[in-house]
Amino acid sequence: MENPCHMCMPMGGILALKGIERSMVIVHGSQGCSTYMRRHIAEHFNEPIDVGSSSLNEKGTVYGGEANLRQALDNINKVYQPGLIGVVTTCLAETIGEDIARIVADYRQERKLVMPIVTANTPGYGGNHSEGYWLTVRRLVETMATATERHNKVNIIVPNISPADIRELKRLLTAMDLEYMLCPDVADTLDRPYLANYSKLPAGGTPIADLYRMGGAPATIEMGVTLDSSVSPGKYLEDTFGVPLYSVPLPIGIQNTDAFMGAIEAINGRKRPADIENERGRLIDAMIDSHKYNFAGRSAVFGDPELVYAVTQLCLENGILPVVVTGDKSGNLSRLLPKTEMSAETVILSDPDFDLVQQQAKAGAVNIAIGHSDGRFLTERDHIPLVRLGFPIHDRVGGQRLLSIGYTGSMNLLDRITNTLLAEKYQHYRQNMYQKYYSKSS
Ligand code: SF4
Repeated sequence: MENPCHMCMPMGGILALKGIERSMVIVHGSQGCSTYMRRHIAEHFNEPIDVGSSSLNEKGTVYGGEANLRQALDNINKVYQPGLIGVVTTCLAETIGEDIARIVADYRQERKLVMPIVTANTPGYGGNHSEGYWLTVRRLVETMATATERHNKVNIIVPNISPADIRELKRLLTAMDLEYMLCPDVADTLDRPYLANYSKLPAGGTPIADLYRMGGAPATIEMGVTLDSSVSPGKYLEDTFGVPLYSVPLPIGIQNTDAFMGAIEAINGRKRPADIENERGRLIDAMIDSHKYNFAGRSAVFGDPELVYAVTQLCLENGILPVVVTGDKSGNLSRLLPKTEMSAETVILSDPDFDLVQQQAKAGAVNIAIGHSDGRFLTERDHIPLVRLGFPIHDRVGGQRLLSIGYTGSMNLLDRITNTLLAEKYQHYRQNMYQKYYSKSS
């Protein structure tokens, strides 16, 4: 794969762990891996990103990296005094067969540690960052959730979305009067306000106490329709503790946001307030206003599968034809997307690289791309404008502040898409007219 459409698996693990209160991450592998991941995440969020490394060298690679990992755990404990440590692996650690679960269990026993340490096997070659993210959330839930007494807080499990999106989710949940615990919660940890006194571990994140109590929740709402049940954290909670699972798409677009709000209404038995209904009405109004421009859109949508699924539906709702859609190896996206609404021209690519996306976009006369910054090659090479969305966004500022979910966020995203199509149209309007009407006659 020459120019992949995704980052490697442990990077997703780091993103998930950054949403847990007072957590630190150790990447078990060479220093280069953690440096690459820190750089990418720091560029997107414009935040200092502390990530530990076990710094596997030649000796550790040949004789095993247990001593390095133990040293890293000691150092992280000493320097950060975290509330939880996550250990994720890399290509190198997995290739030499490191048993991190056994190493960590022995370490905790010897040190008589109460602090939880969550391990996730995330070989870089084993999957993409989205798979690493979900696997790590699943491992967090498997490791932490216990059979507590029943309580009122609903589990909200979210994919890798922006801190601004998380804040919007919280606003909606509060407006709906729902008691909840949201995991992972990067609203503040990856978008912290400026403070005169710097703290090594940011405030915020899913409280560790909440993780322990997930097994006693009245329900789980999980935005993970593209997940297999073996990976879904919500399915684990349902199978292990009998917590009913409401699996809904990421609330982008009218249909998906209705599904999310409907799940809340079903759980707490209350209708949405008038303010939220008005937000829905404004989104419909925006859709009516912009459909006369959007019908000309032919999109390429790429990125994390949950986001791709939701954005493809937003395109369909607004008359934009999804021409190229990227999925992952599971093929779940092809199964989920409504075939009746798709066109025969639509190509759903399983785990492609950007060269393939570029070829298909060109062949399908795509005129708008929607996805993360790595799709900028579509603009550079084929002049297809890119609406930046998802992770990573490293050639613009504000990736962490992009709001795209809920009725208001969807309206925001729709405006960004429509205005990109309009800008493209007006930029080439005269030139196209000239070519169409005058160049032939001259
Ligand atoms: S792909 Fe493998 S070697 Fe490269 S950064 Fe990721 S884990 Fe490290």
